[in-house]
Amino acid sequence: MRIGIIGAGQLGQMLGNAARELGYECRFIDPSESPPAASTGTVIQKPFDDPQALAELAADCDVVTYEFENVPVGALHAIASSVPVYPPPGALAIAQDRLNEKRLFDELDIPLPGYRTIDSWQDLQQAGSDLGLPIVVKTRRFGYDGKGQFLIRDLQQINDAWDALGSQPLIAEAWVAFDYEVSVIGVRNTLGDIAIWPLTQNEHADGILRNSRSPVDDPELFERASSYMQRMLEHLDYVGVLALELFVVKDELLANEFAPRVHNSGHWTIEGAATSQFTNHLLAITGQAPGSTACPAHVGMINLIGEMPDTAGNSSISDDSRISLHDYGKTPRPGRKLGHITIVADSAAERDELLHQLSESVT
Ligand code: AMP
Repeated sequence: MRIGIIGAGQLGQMLGNAARELGYECRFIDPSESPPAASTGTVIQKPFDDPQALAELAADCDVVTYEFENVPVGALHAIASSVPVYPPPGALAIAQDRLNEKRLFDELDIPLPGYRTIDSWQDLQQAGSDLGLPIVVKTRRFGYDGKGQFLIRDLQQINDAWDALGSQPLIAEAWVAFDYEVSVIGVRNTLGDIAIWPLTQNEHADGILRNSRSPVDDPELFERASSYMQRMLEHLDYVGVLALELFVVKDELLANEFAPRVHNSGHWTIEGAATSQFTNHLLAITGQAPGSTACPAHVGMINLIGEMPDTAGNSSISDDSRISLHDYGKTPRPGRKLGHITIVADSAAERDELLHQLSESVT
C-alpha cells in the first residue's frame, strides 16, 4: 500500500512512522528542503499545488491525504477523480473559512460563542455592542496558532483592529472566559465505522498549544463532546482523523474550531492510547477497522517550542521510562514547534506533577 501525503512536516513524519509499522510506503509533496517527514518516505520537493507533483502522487499512490490545512482545495479536487482523497476536500473547504466553520456548528446544533461576519468598520463597531466586549477579531482564512487575531477590550481598539486586519474577510466572536479548553479527536473509516479517543485538556499561550492531558475525568462532558464529533463525522461523510477544539465554561461546552487532520492535541496517543491517531488515520483511509482508542494510563504532552532541551545534560528526561522525547529534526526558530514530550503515568496526580516539573525545566 502506498500513501500520498501533501505536506511533510512533523505530522507527516508521525504519519510516516505509523505507516512504516503498518508496512505501508509514503510519498510526500513539500516545497521545503529536508522537511521532517523526509526520514520516513520519498519527498517530491514542489509546491503543494504543483499540478505535475499532484498528478505523480495520484498515479503512484493508492490513496492521498494531507497533513496541514492550507492545501488549495482546487488541487485536491483536481486529483480526486483519479485517486481517493481523504479527508474529503469538502470538509477541508469548510475548515479553511472560519465563517463556514461556524455555520456548520450552527447547522449541527453544536453550541458555539456568539459571532458576527465583519465586512466593514461599522460591522465591527456593531459586533462590539451586540456581543459585548471583549471580542476577538479573526481572519476568516489562513489563521493558525493564534495568528491573524486581534483582541478588542475597549472601543478605542476597534480602529487598531480594523487597521491591522481590515483588508481581509473577517469574523468577530465573543471572548469566552472559559474554565479550560478541551479537544475531542475522532476517526471514521470508509465503511462508516467510528472511534473516539478520550477527551484531552489543552493549555494554550499566545494562541499556541503548550500542553495537553488525557483523559479528562468527566464522563458527561465526554458524552457531549463525542456526540458533537459523531454528528460532524457523519454529516461530512468524513474519512480519517478529525479534531474538534472546545471551550468549557461553567456547564457549557462551546465549539471553537475543527481541524480535518491529525492534531497536535492528539500526539499523546502514540504512547498513551492502544492505537495512535496516526495509525488510525491510515487504517481509516485504507478502509480498515479503527484500532482501540482506549487510554489505560494518565498521559501528558508538552510541546517543545523555539529550542530543544539538552537531553544529555537532563537525566530527568533520558532516564525516566515514563517520558518519551520526540525530536522533529527542525532548525530551531522562536515560536517554532520542534518536538514534544509525552508522559505516561499511573495516576493523574503523578502525571500532573511530572508535567509541571518538566514544563519548568524545558520550556
Ligand atoms: P484559534 O486559532 O481560534 O483556535 O485560537 C487559538 C487560541 O486562542 C484558542 O485555543 C484559545 O486559547 C484562544 N481563543 C481563541 N478564540 C477565543 C475566544 N473566542 N475566547 C477565548 N479564547 C479564545
